[in-house]
Amino acid sequence: MSVQAARMTKVLLVEDEPAIADTLVYAMETERFEVTHVLTGRDALAKIAAHRYDFIILDVGLPDMTGFEVCRKLRESSSVPVLFLTARDGEIDRILGLEIGGDDYVTKPFSPREIAARVRAILRRTTPSETPPKQEARTFQPSGSKTLEHDPAAMRIHCHGACLELTAHEYKLLLVLLENKGRVLTRDQLLEKAWYDPGAVTDRTVDAHIKTLRAKLRLARKGAEDMIQTRRGLGYVLVTD
Ligand code: CA
Repeated sequence: MSVQAARMTKVLLVEDEPAIADTLVYAMETERFEVTHVLTGRDALAKIAAHRYDFIILDVGLPDMTGFEVCRKLRESSSVPVLFLTARDGEIDRILGLEIGGDDYVTKPFSPREIAARVRAILRRTTPSETPPKQEARTFQPSGSKTLEHDPAAMRIHCHGACLELTAHEYKLLLVLLENKGRVLTRDQLLEKAWYDPGAVTDRTVDAHIKTLRAKLRLARKGAEDMIQTRRGLGYVLVTD
């Protein structure tokens, strides 16, 4: 039995255009999601503070603040998956959205069923009970000191014993690099292995996630040298230090 069948997945939809919101709410409810709809960023943050949601669908262009600002505030306390709805097809928007902790984005106009499918795909990646990972521990112990450790059951990666707060994409990307440590992977290989729908994103997206991953690793390692190295014209490699 799936998670959705056992309990309705609670989705918060933040969208100020009534026509878009109505069709989306209808489509999501048909797909057995429980949807709460708000029109502004302020209302969204109030809802998030008071209730627990499994998923946030967040319009970038809101009347009182941008969806990016909402996400940034949200990420201070929560790792709930976020799907951005963006009106513009600008790559800068997409990358900014991913850098501040979004899990994916969809450009308007979109089909409501596409959104439901994306939400399910992201939840499959981020909900451990849906697809139990292999129970083998993957550890990485350079020069005797444990730097990165994967906890497959919790789908977490620890750095020097501290749990890294990663988005779904950052987690998958770091796991792929960890599983292939010492091996250079091209952007195409990373897209192929770490994204469920590699055709929908560009290699700039990989670069954006690598950037946020590096920042988080640097923070966890108190400024030590980057573990993820760039091989110009080739790709990325995770190295021991
Ligand atoms: Ca809007």
